[in-house]
Amino acid sequence: MNKTQHGGDSPSLIHHFETFELPQKLNDALKAMEFEIPTPIQAQAIPIALKGRDLIGCAQTGTGKTAAFCIPTLVHLLADRNKTALILAPTRELAMQIEGVWKDLTRFSPEIRSAILVGGNSMQPQMQALKRSPKLVIATPGRLIDHLQRGSLNLSRVGILILDEADRMLDMGFAPQLSQIMRFVPQSRQTLLFSATWSPVVDDLAKKYLKAPARVSVEKASRAAQTVHQSMIATTMKGKNEALLDELNEREGSVLVFVRTKSRTDRVAKYLSSYGLDVNRIHGGRTQGQRNAALSAFRVGKVRILVATDIAARGIDVVNIQHVINYDLPQVAEDYIHRIGRTGRAGSEGCAVSFVTPEDRSQWRDITHLLKKGGTIVSTHQARTKAAC
Ligand code: AMP
Repeated sequence: MNKTQHGGDSPSLIHHFETFELPQKLNDALKAMEFEIPTPIQAQAIPIALKGRDLIGCAQTGTGKTAAFCIPTLVHLLADRNKTALILAPTRELAMQIEGVWKDLTRFSPEIRSAILVGGNSMQPQMQALKRSPKLVIATPGRLIDHLQRGSLNLSRVGILILDEADRMLDMGFAPQLSQIMRFVPQSRQTLLFSATWSPVVDDLAKKYLKAPARVSVEKASRAAQTVHQSMIATTMKGKNEALLDELNEREGSVLVFVRTKSRTDRVAKYLSSYGLDVNRIHGGRTQGQRNAALSAFRVGKVRILVATDIAARGIDVVNIQHVINYDLPQVAEDYIHRIGRTGRAGSEGCAVSFVTPEDRSQWRDITHLLKKGGTIVSTHQARTKAAC
């Protein structure tokens, strides 16, 4: 594997999108999106992907990774009208977020149509979208396989394959589905794999499906965004609701609250509503329509507080979340980094606070160990004292 660049501060970073010499339609779209300067992952990944090389991108959400793979994909599809592309993502929300970026990028090239194939939505509109010969298919693995089995989708012209959040796809047990899908995708293709964390299983996946990939990375997996102020509040299981209420009353701006299970999410949201707080909830047990409505109300600021489980929150692209509250700690230490990556995006400041009960001691130790490796400090508070920010 070739290591090209490491770290976001490389002196060879490109300072303007024009340097990439992209097609005019794409430059116009970027202008309309107000994207002027490539983010570090874009500066590193785009030139490599434009050359047609396989690529591994280590980047968390919030770094601009979606455009980092969508921009070169669009350039290739504009140049070769026989080529198609496939993006696989672990969750519906992430797939929809990618589709949003694609729609923005193709604002002036609407002929490069996309179709989104995700579970939870009915098959019929998806079949219709496939009949219009989309150039790009964005899919979650399970639903993609449904279409392959029905014969409604042909992947034989896929020239570019993107595996987004590969670590999460493996965590969610999608390895067998990926291997099944690979049998339908041509061998001669370009493959781009993005992952927020790196582990031996992700490495195995990359070895299996990528050829001599270049590797770019903007943040070590153990590192949290530097713009997030992190603190912990020592509390008890019983004291969590009250501590949450205090924190919400003391903070201004939007708040994403992470809770471990669907039923706990419902309970916490109900508790907050009973105190007159503006709150919505999102978890895997809710319909796609309910999830979309909750998300868009949160995105436009109609609802200040969103209570969510990990999986549902994956792929939430809301730019200005000011606070993340870990009502429950995540089961896996790396998920802590994904969660707090929801705030402090694109260089803005954010706050993350975690409730830690005596029962959470070993989980919290794992998280702080991971953070220490990345050089992050977390301040400690007792419940009902004002947090650091
Ligand atoms: P992502 O990591 O792809 O989820 O992107 C995170 C956020 O950064 C999104 O809201 C994007 O719209 C925004 N973004 C991505 N690239 C740029 C850029 N070059 N300039 C400004 N904003 C960007």
